[in-house]
Amino acid sequence: MENYRSRHNELTKQIDSDANLTNWQDWKWQLRNSIKKISTFETLTGITLDTQERKVLEETIEKFPLSITPYYLSLIETKDYKNDPIFLQSFADPRELIVQDWEKSDPLSEDKDSPVPGITHRYPDRVLFHVSNVCSMYCRHCTRKRKVGDNDYIPAKDQVQQGLDYIRSTPKVRDVLLSGGDPFMLSDEYLDWILTELRKIEHVEVIRIGSRMPVVLPYRITDELVAMLKKHHPVWVNTHFNHPRELTSSTRKALSKMADAGIPLGNQSVLLAGVNDCPRLMKSLVQKLVFNRVRPYYLYQCDLSEGLSHFRTPVGKGIEIMESLIGHTSGFSVPTYVIDAPGGGGKIPVMPNYLLSWSPHKVILRNFEGVITTYQEPHSYDDPGCDGNCEACDLQLKFDDANEYNSVGIWKLLSNWDETYSLTPENNERMERREETTNGVG
Ligand SMILES: *Cc1c(COP(=O)(O)O)cnc(C)c1O
Repeated sequence: MENYRSRHNELTKQIDSDANLTNWQDWKWQLRNSIKKISTFETLTGITLDTQERKVLEETIEKFPLSITPYYLSLIETKDYKNDPIFLQSFADPRELIVQDWEKSDPLSEDKDSPVPGITHRYPDRVLFHVSNVCSMYCRHCTRKRKVGDNDYIPAKDQVQQGLDYIRSTPKVRDVLLSGGDPFMLSDEYLDWILTELRKIEHVEVIRIGSRMPVVLPYRITDELVAMLKKHHPVWVNTHFNHPRELTSSTRKALSKMADAGIPLGNQSVLLAGVNDCPRLMKSLVQKLVFNRVRPYYLYQCDLSEGLSHFRTPVGKGIEIMESLIGHTSGFSVPTYVIDAPGGGGKIPVMPNYLLSWSPHKVILRNFEGVITTYQEPHSYDDPGCDGNCEACDLQLKFDDANEYNSVGIWKLLSNWDETYSLTPENNERMERREETTNGVG
């Protein structure tokens, strides 16, 4: 702690000899003084790169720009910087220029699932609303690297208006996730305007904000910001801690401000080789998060975005981590491990196997300790035999609450009121052959 504080003082003076602690804690000062050049990075950290290294790094940041807040930079332990999790997440690596065959600039096809600029509509009842194309720190593992720095801007009101119009005219959307870039890069006034407009839409029930500011620039979480957010409840905030070292006294303060304002907090981590690919480290991270009233929400398998191969772990590493968490620590400390499907299939949860076998009478399970156990199935079970008609059902769901009744995917196969009994992939050869034969025969 002392260490950080004295480093803050020292860095503040190095950046601007007239500045003081008040400047350091001013998020706009932090933004103005974000480190974008390799030479500034070297001066401020005392790290000296050799000429060859510097040359390749310059090429790297030409393609994927550099931006580190002085605050986040101050967390780098310079002694062993090459293994430092803060350094690895914020400073360029020449391996970012390596593009493998299976990597894509937009692996999640977010741009394809975009009905209007700024909106990604992938799931039935919720949308991603990109309200900022800027971040205070450029994470080297960013899945939207394609957008980083190429055109740093905050969309003007008329572009945001198009997104709002789409949401207004799409009654199925009951959950809006503000994303970006980082929505907390917007001024309080601008964000207030967006939230006010969203709140005028009756079918929008929940608003979520995804931001890494609590981690990389915790001073952004001001009393004014939090008071503004509070007016628009229910507002949820999801942040992005990847390593226990990121939980400092400043981040803890930012988190409690939001929690005290009744904002439910979640965390989305990305599994990163050399940064957090360790069961013990992950357990410490999730426990620290929960201690600070942040619920671990997702653990992401690193996406197939361009230039991230050095960050990627096998899926097996994630399963091993989940195995070490489930049962071993509080249930609400355990995130859901997901792979975001290339091509836009969305998040797919992956888990260790707990269901070992099954008969009509018994289920065989194993627990986290390796105990193998049985669950006796009921002898008789009266399946209500749902026909999708809630008005005639004994279960007392008021009809108002049962307005959505179109089943999708595997649920469609399970439901009794839909006659679909198989899902056939597009371009299935066998089906095409059938069509040809029937056509041929007439
Ligand atoms: C992750 C994501 C969401 C939200 O998914 P949840 O599982 O509800 O958190 C919505 N839209 C897109 C495009 C996403 O990637």
